[in-house]
Amino acid sequence: MLDPAALAMEPAPGRACGTCTLCCKVYDIPPLAKPAGAWCRHCRPGRGCVIHPDRPQHCRDFHCLWITQAWLGPEWKPDRSKMVLTIDAATRFLLVQVDHGAPNAWRAEPYYRQLKQWSGAAAGRGQHVIVFLNKSATVILPDRDVPLGVMGPTDRIVARERRTATGTSIDVERVAGAA
Ligand code: SF4
Ligand code: SF4
Repeated sequence: MLDPAALAMEPAPGRACGTCTLCCKVYDIPPLAKPAGAWCRHCRPGRGCVIHPDRPQHCRDFHCLWITQAWLGPEWKPDRSKMVLTIDAATRFLLVQVDHGAPNAWRAEPYYRQLKQWSGAAAGRGQHVIVFLNKSATVILPDRDVPLGVMGPTDRIVARERRTATGTSIDVERVAGAA
């Protein structure tokens, strides 16, 4: 069960990045002016960081969910799944950052089924599962997937419940932040 309130924040015993370096590709790294989707110039893909002892604090502070959550199986290791999972610190949304070299990785099984299950549980808490391909977001809802396009740094995702003939559905939209 992926419950943000119960998540460990530190690496789980026995978990190590090993051959994975995907977080050095898929994210912005502001102290290095590295954009999402480009390998960091200090990364040797599949091998590691050549400035590891001197890497920015931004990098030191990062732990993906596969590193901190021992219950996530080996199929979720980012260099195998082609996705890096995190929990947004402010919203507690589950963020799935996909390697743009494998843009449909999240649609493959067993991943898509698991993302849908997490989406159902998150919806009950007023939270969401969001897949990112660089800055382009898709919200995974229990009954459908909603592409929202490129998210600006101050954009927000707003959700509303809507009653339907068969129950309750959720509408989501991207709301532009202040310019
Ligand atoms: S994505 Fe996770 S497992 Fe892979 S290098 Fe980064 S912290 Fe390590
Ligand atoms: S400095 Fe090292 S740890 Fe940080 S993104 Fe670059 S390769 Fe990865």
